[in-house]
Amino acid sequence: MLQAVLGLPVLEPDEPVPLASVALPQARLEPPAELAGLATAQAEARVRHTYGRSYPDILRGYRGDFALAPDLVVYPRDETEVGACLDWASRAGVPLTPWGGGTSVCGGLTPETRGPPRAVLDLGALDQVLEVDEHSLLARIQAGILGPALEEQLRPHGLTLRHFPQSFRFSTLGGWLATRAGGHFATVYTHIDDLCAGMRVVTPRGVMESRPLPGSGAGPSPDRLMLGSEGIFGVITEGTMRVRTRPRHRSSCSVRFTELEGAVAAVHAISQAALFPSNCRLLDSREAMLNQVDHSGNHVLILGFEGPQGPLTSPMDRALALARAHGGTHEAPHHRESEPADGRSQAATWRQAFFDGPYLQSTLVSLGVVADTFETCVPWSRFEALRSAVSEAVLGTMRAHTGHGVLSMRFTHVYPDGPAPYFTWLAPARRGEELALWTAVKSAATTAILENGGTVTHHHAVGRVHRSGYSSQRPARFGAVLHAVKATLDPAGVLNPGVLIASQAPEP
Ligand SMILES: Cc1cc2nc3c(=O)[nH]c(=O)nc-3n(C[C@H](O)[C@H](O)[C@H](O)COP(=O)(O)OP(=O)(O)OC[C@H]3O[C@@H](n4cnc5c(N)ncnc54)[C@H](O)[C@@H]3O)c2cc1C
Repeated sequence: MLQAVLGLPVLEPDEPVPLASVALPQARLEPPAELAGLATAQAEARVRHTYGRSYPDILRGYRGDFALAPDLVVYPRDETEVGACLDWASRAGVPLTPWGGGTSVCGGLTPETRGPPRAVLDLGALDQVLEVDEHSLLARIQAGILGPALEEQLRPHGLTLRHFPQSFRFSTLGGWLATRAGGHFATVYTHIDDLCAGMRVVTPRGVMESRPLPGSGAGPSPDRLMLGSEGIFGVITEGTMRVRTRPRHRSSCSVRFTELEGAVAAVHAISQAALFPSNCRLLDSREAMLNQVDHSGNHVLILGFEGPQGPLTSPMDRALALARAHGGTHEAPHHRESEPADGRSQAATWRQAFFDGPYLQSTLVSLGVVADTFETCVPWSRFEALRSAVSEAVLGTMRAHTGHGVLSMRFTHVYPDGPAPYFTWLAPARRGEELALWTAVKSAATTAILENGGTVTHHHAVGRVHRSGYSSQRPARFGAVLHAVKATLDPAGVLNPGVLIASQAPEP
């Protein structure tokens, strides 16, 4: 497909370095006596906790470069042990990385250089739904739980959190809260922020627990301070989450457009018509082709509605009328009362490709193709300028470096005031030059996004990769506030140094 359809030259596949051949630097920390039974310096644990899932992470891991491995991995079993780990790290001055599922794509888990001896705090043992208040539709859930286990434990209650990021299988509730993750539903409750009624956070200065409330006007919200704090203020141990009855009725339809302009206008109209589709994903023609949804050059809008009660014909009909008014054509929508999607529809093909796609990244690395995604969000009135600037910058950079390049776009979420475009790019690289190419493209994309009024990230978080972009888009005084909060809650500066904000506070 890379050669025949995309015209990209590929290299002979190479194999990943086997685990047994990884040359790991000597661990510089011994498991401390006070964390006996919780901490290990064993090689495989250190290898598994070296990298997240960004392109540079995958490339380095594939090539067996584990120079950035942590010196110790700690596995607390409960909140008291989390507190003990923070006490030890603060006293010993050891940088500590909270670890959920390890799916960070923005350098949230790995320092840029080896730096001082450091430890990783794996929260995987905190994996229970603790309490369900069916009357209020609230569930108290531990932070280390992975997506599938969370849904399995809610299922007997007929409830769901209904938060499905593409990394759902491998990411945790705590990771979602710490990074303000976005699920794959297109409108309304997209970010985990809106599903969070309260949380418990263990900071180096003690526990902070917010009161779960349906709403409150009482000053700045403690939850909003912790949402997106990416482990620099404390370790989230529990969330009280807004759950809902499992949807039974679903309706889906895909609409084809020959012109991208018409497709964008249709989504704009639907997003402002108070219809709130669960899916409103526009794939440009290249994205539709890459995901095997359409091979004839059409742009495809996948529309979906769902709810506990049917029928959903009326909102679907209204959305389709808006799509037709902008040049869209479609078949009859599928309406069904069932859990899984119809296996033959374009929506089902898309869903499968959505969850399968990331597995291809290792294959692409083996073939010498650099592939990555980036995303943003921007008001409708600035979207077209942003899209064309991003296309020019990214295609131009790929072609200047390699003579080739493929860029596709989809809308991952839409709001009444603007879309969240998500871009995928692929370019062939010479072995050993992948990171230089990746850095050049990433930098071109980020500059084009920020110069055209977008955010440095809509849902991939800040980590270290987006830190300077975040710093330039937020008010300078807000940066000073973040540093002050950090100094108050983590005076020894041991939690995730270099993530979200620079390790050193700026001059006042
Ligand atoms: C293939 C793929 C698809 C993805 N799709 C999406 C998507 O659709 N939507 C989306 O939003 N993101 C997506 N991501 C990014 C990533 O999955 C999210 O950022 C996710 O929220 C991270 O969760 P995690 O449990 O893996 O956290 P980790 O990667 O382990 O950690 C992420 C950051 O949060 C900190 N952290 C983790 N747990 C805690 C805690 N309990 N307390 C305090 N800090 C903590 C870590 O130190 C780190 O800085 C995707 C990633 C991949 C690889």
